[in-house]
Amino acid sequence: MHSGYDPRNLAPYACTESTSRGRIHAEADPVHRNQYQRDRDRIIHSAAFRRLEYKTQVFVNHEGDLFRTRLTHSLEVSQIARSISRELNLHEDLTETIAIAHDLGHAPFGHAGQDALNHCMKKYGGFEHNLQSLRVVDELEEKYAEFPGLNLTYESREGILKHCSAKDAKHLGELGQRFLAKNQPSLEAQVCDHADEIAYNNHDIDDGIRYGLINIKQLLDTQLFRDQHDKVKQLYPDLNERRQIHEIIRRMINRMVVDLIETSKAKLLQLNLSHPDEARQQAHYLIGFSEDVQQQNLELKRFLRENLYRHYRVTRMTKKAMNVLTALFEAFMDDVNILPPDAKHHCNDLKEKMGDTGIARGIADYIAGMTDRYAIVEYERIFNPRQLSFVNLIP
Ligand code: MG
Repeated sequence: MHSGYDPRNLAPYACTESTSRGRIHAEADPVHRNQYQRDRDRIIHSAAFRRLEYKTQVFVNHEGDLFRTRLTHSLEVSQIARSISRELNLHEDLTETIAIAHDLGHAPFGHAGQDALNHCMKKYGGFEHNLQSLRVVDELEEKYAEFPGLNLTYESREGILKHCSAKDAKHLGELGQRFLAKNQPSLEAQVCDHADEIAYNNHDIDDGIRYGLINIKQLLDTQLFRDQHDKVKQLYPDLNERRQIHEIIRRMINRMVVDLIETSKAKLLQLNLSHPDEARQQAHYLIGFSEDVQQQNLELKRFLRENLYRHYRVTRMTKKAMNVLTALFEAFMDDVNILPPDAKHHCNDLKEKMGDTGIARGIADYIAGMTDRYAIVEYERIFNPRQLSFVNLIP
């Protein structure tokens, strides 16, 4: 038996190696690791994972050392997801794999980057970060002699592809099937989906306050924040503001995690499933919050959308970021000869397979792979006339 999980400790509805749908390219079994540990290790050693350090979700990367990056976000998601997964006797290694891989396909500049690239790619099939994450692990990482990508297990790939339109699902074979059949992903994937939300809602509050974009007084309008704020105020009336905020946020995370575990546990107990596929065949997620916390979570998300994500200072950054990526895309489409050699070869390879659409897809791959700071430098190199010297054009 491989090291790692003893399958006897797992619930019958957990994903296991014995129920796994395996990898696209056959490989010898790992020694001293289970299949999902191998997947996790492959992600940690990938270039796309390292780039997460310099990519952001809401704020631009270079603005301060204390703000979350996609890398620290992915680690927070992993921490939350593993706690939940372990408590529900799901496969913790698979959960960790999905958590650290879930954002690999994001363009630079967070959602602004996604929207800009999607707009640029409109005529060529669009750009969607979930699909791009799958593309990264299936095709774009170049690390192994015998196959493209990381050749991850079906279960890891299933978890990475969180959303997918019916149109795209048709081209994805077995993996796209669940979107057409309206099935659910594994319970491990469902845990990661919720852990992602718990992580970003709470850390966006923290980062938003730190930036001065939102404040405690405004946040008191949301019940999730208010409940914990009142408790902390009562217990520690003299606490300074920074510690008070952290104390509130850690209690909010705890409140959400505990509620999610207890609600999901009760549902799973009631259904008494005997195979992970039975969870997939349900009409809805089995992992979820109680009705009460679900409503409070929606209220918090609404608050963040209105007060933080649509704050005029964030909107300005968003606009600027979109302009940068759009200008890069158009410049490369106009003349592929300004692409660095690797990116140009990639475009030409795709052109052979897909025609002109291939060039656009190759450019989208190149841009999506950029970190925030790389995109800014690349923009400067191409558009700043002060950099009109050969020396500065050398990367
Ligand atoms: Mg995320």
